[in-house]
Amino acid sequence: NEAVSKNFIEQIIDQDIKEGHCKKVVTRFPPEPNGYLHIGHAKSILLNYGLAKEYNGQFNMRFDDTNPTKEKEEFVDSIKRDVEWLGAKWHGDVLFASGYFDQMYEAAVRLIKKGKAYVCDLTPEQIREYRGTLTEPGKESPYRNRSVEENLELFENMKNGVYKDGEKVLRAKIDMASPNINMRDPIIYRVAHISHHRTGDKWCIYPMYDFAHPIEDAIEGVSHSICTLEFEDHRPLYDWVVRELEYENPPRQIEFAKLYLNNVVTGKRYIKKLVEDKIVDGWDDPRLVSIAALRRRGFTPEAIKMFVDLVGVTKSQGAVEYPMLEYCIREDLKLKAKRMMAVLNPVKLVIDNYPEGQVEYMEVPNNQENPELGTRKVPFTKELYIEREDFMEEPPKKYFRMFPGNEVRLMNAYFVTCTGCEKDENGNVTVIHATYDEETRGGNFTGRKVKGTIHWVSATEGSPVEVRLYENIVDEEKGVYNEEDGSINVNPHSLTVLKNCYVEPELLKAQPEDKFQFVRNGYFTADSKDSEAGKPVFNRIVSLKSSFKM
Ligand code: ATP
Ligand code: MG
Ligand code: MG
Repeated sequence: NEAVSKNFIEQIIDQDIKEGHCKKVVTRFPPEPNGYLHIGHAKSILLNYGLAKEYNGQFNMRFDDTNPTKEKEEFVDSIKRDVEWLGAKWHGDVLFASGYFDQMYEAAVRLIKKGKAYVCDLTPEQIREYRGTLTEPGKESPYRNRSVEENLELFENMKNGVYKDGEKVLRAKIDMASPNINMRDPIIYRVAHISHHRTGDKWCIYPMYDFAHPIEDAIEGVSHSICTLEFEDHRPLYDWVVRELEYENPPRQIEFAKLYLNNVVTGKRYIKKLVEDKIVDGWDDPRLVSIAALRRRGFTPEAIKMFVDLVGVTKSQGAVEYPMLEYCIREDLKLKAKRMMAVLNPVKLVIDNYPEGQVEYMEVPNNQENPELGTRKVPFTKELYIEREDFMEEPPKKYFRMFPGNEVRLMNAYFVTCTGCEKDENGNVTVIHATYDEETRGGNFTGRKVKGTIHWVSATEGSPVEVRLYENIVDEEKGVYNEEDGSINVNPHSLTVLKNCYVEPELLKAQPEDKFQFVRNGYFTADSKDSEAGKPVFNRIVSLKSSFKM
């Protein structure tokens, strides 16, 4: 039943359409360009874009740049890139709240003329004091009953730079006794002599968020202004602004719960510290969950979409587990990624009865579950590399891989029987020896059974590459935050760099962001920062084993 499976926002929209309040669904994503987007923002982007698409409406991309102290053009560019990458297509040009500064000023003047706003000379401390508390009503400002004429003149002076920062503010005249503190004559304009990244020095007064946001939405004809729960008790002010300014078809604010991941850091100030302390390699370090970091780690837009769909849209706060995100990327890549052979921790295997110098090409399906991905040729030679873990001189029970006397299948190639090994003076295995059976060629030999199948790479035709393995940047045993100083408890083993992994020749062609399964080892992507032509560096996106169950 479709009606039942719709989320609560869709139900509200359906109702608004039915009752004739909404002719066209218009949504927007309104980030402040003061940092990089993270996985939580992806939820907001895909939700707003998805609704516009579902209702044949319009999705606006708007920068909420009304606070020039923290905003930068650098972030505008990174945010645009991330939204595009996620597949959310915005209507027309990118919009900026600062593009409406003239209209916001006009709107403030209109409120003054209606007797609904006044210039207040109280200091910031006094304003806080007069505001009251949850249990005590506020106290009216002595400037509250200034005449319209005086307010108009003082507000114009504010605009013309007559006053210093903090000397005067414009306040909405609402209700100092309201049980909702946001309604106790909130500040709507402040003096701030700061350059803006787009309007330069044109303005020395800037609108406050709660005043600016509803105006931005109204100007753009936004029908449903979707935001996160912390704005729920700002909604009466939002409604007051659009009502007093008498907009036709006023927008409607709807709140939903933020996306939180357990044991994952999304807070800007914590990530900034990790970057500054050089614990991570920038904002896009693959251990972080900024969109840029997830992209570099190898996540796909499809996997992120699947993830936010699984999490769903609700009003109740809750955190989800990172393994759920991992589940989504495995699902997405299962049939899309070629399954290749790469040896992460190599030890040499010599097939003693195989001809010296011979190179034999094995035709191998790229993905057994998806024949559309075709086949490739993998060179087989006398000297190979296999995983060190796939050999034991004295195996425990139920170990079915290589040990002296045992026969195993070399994936896609021959059955080989281990004949022994060589060791260095410290007892470390340096070379393993085996013989092969020519009859067993091709990986599908069924003449007799073996219990172990292992992967391999030709030592002479394959190439060494760098591979990076990751764990959570957070030390999960200690918890995210250090109780003493509030910093992050960093997991000292979050990055493992393997400099000498061996990959089959085909993998040297990998382009940045190409994704593969390395059989038995997980899904990997070619790093977009550190790969060079013919010399890829691989990041492990996720291992193959899952702790998450649907
Ligand atoms: P942060 O401080 O983490 O950057 P923010 O709320 O300051 O978050 P904005 O740039 O103001 O970020 O937000 C842009 C939009 O993204 C807002 O509509 C906001 O509600 C939404 N958003 C931010 N964080 C989350 C989250 N964790 N889950 C869902 N939506 C979010
Ligand atoms: Mg932000
Ligand atoms: Mg913010």
